[in-house]
Amino acid sequence: MTDTDTAAVAVPVPHHPPVADLADRLARAQRATLAAGVDALLISPGPDLRYLTGYDAIPLERLTCLVLPAQGDPVIVVPGLEKPAALASPIGNLGLEVLSWGETDDPYHLVASLLPPQGIAAVDNHMWAEKVLRLRDAMPGATQSLAGPVLRELRIRKTPDEVEALRRAGAAIDRVHAQVHRWLRAGRTEREVGKDIADSIIAEGHVSVDFVIVGSGPHGASPHHELSDRVILQGEPVVVDIGGTMPDGYCSDETRTYSVGEPPAEFTDYYAVLQAAQAAACEHVSPGVTAESVDAAARDVITAAGYGDYFVHRTGHGIGLETHEEPYIVTGNTELIEPGMAFSIEPGIYLPGKHGARIEDILVCGETEGERLNLRPRDLVVL
Ligand code: ZN
Ligand code: ZN
Repeated sequence: MTDTDTAAVAVPVPHHPPVADLADRLARAQRATLAAGVDALLISPGPDLRYLTGYDAIPLERLTCLVLPAQGDPVIVVPGLEKPAALASPIGNLGLEVLSWGETDDPYHLVASLLPPQGIAAVDNHMWAEKVLRLRDAMPGATQSLAGPVLRELRIRKTPDEVEALRRAGAAIDRVHAQVHRWLRAGRTEREVGKDIADSIIAEGHVSVDFVIVGSGPHGASPHHELSDRVILQGEPVVVDIGGTMPDGYCSDETRTYSVGEPPAEFTDYYAVLQAAQAAACEHVSPGVTAESVDAAARDVITAAGYGDYFVHRTGHGIGLETHEEPYIVTGNTELIEPGMAFSIEPGIYLPGKHGARIEDILVCGETEGERLNLRPRDLVVL
C-alpha cells in the first residue's frame, strides 16, 4: 500500500451553508429578479441551484427545476425518485415547497402551471438545451431570458464565509503543490506524475479532481495540455496547473512551473519576466480598479520584455462554486473590482515547440488590496 492510498481513506463530509444564509440568498435573488423585470428564475441542477438552496443535485435527463418567482413562494419541481435526496439536502430545512412528478407525468407543463402564461422566464445559464426548448414548448406565450445576469450580482461578490471556503481550497491545493517534488522527475511520464497529483488532490481534502495539467517541455507551450505518455526529460521546464472541488462546492486552481534539472538559459530569462508580471498584477488589485487594468498590469511587463506575442490568453477568471466564473480579467472588461471578488492572476509565456511557463494564484479583493489565497513560493523550483 502506498502512502497516498492511506491518505485517501479520509473522505471529507459534505458541507452546506447555514439555512439562514440560503434563505437570505433566495430572498436577495427574488429582489434581483423583481428589479430585472423578470417574472421567475428557472434554475436546474448546477452551481446556481447549489448557491441558492445548498442542493447539489445530479444533472439528469429527468427535470429538476427551482421555480423562483419575483414575488411569492419558491417551489422546486423534482422527479419522484429524487424527492428523498432533495429533502435530505438543505431544501428540507428551507421550507421550500417540493412538487414531485411521476414517471409518466409531464414536468414541463407542471412548471408552466406555476408561471404567468405571458411572463418572462429567465432560465439557468447551465440548463440543458433540451430542457430549455421543452419549457419553451410548454409555455408558448412566455418569453425566455437568461438567469445569469440576475444571479451574477449575488455570486460575483463573495461573503466572508465564501472567502473562507476559497481560503480552505487554496490551502488544500497549496499542500498538493508542496509535494509535487516527490513525483516530478526525469524518466516518468506526465500521466504517471498526474496520477500521483490527482490522488493527492483528493487526499488533501477535495471531493473531486477537476483538472490536472502536467505540460513537460514543448507540451508546456500549450496552456491547456493535460496529460500524455510523454517521458519527462532532464533539463525540462514543466507547467503544473491543478484544481479540484472541496466538499462545500468551492474550487481550487493553482499553477506552478517547475524545472527538472537546470533549464535552458532562455527559459530562466523569461521566467523572471513572468514572475515580475504576475507580481505586478497581484499588487495592482484593489477596489475601484478595472478588471482590464489588472490584465494590463501583467501584460505590460511581458510586452515590454518582448514576449507579448507569447502571452496568448487573458490574465484570469473569477472562481467560486465554478472554476471559471465572473469576473473575467481580460482586455475590454471595464467592470470595477470590488471587495469580495475572487479571481485568478495567471499570466503565461509560451514558446511553441520549446517550452512554456505560467504562474497562477487565486486572489480575493479586500477592503484596500488583494489577498493571495495561494501561498506556495513563486521562484522557479529546480528539482
Ligand atoms: Zn489553473
Ligand atoms: Zn485558472
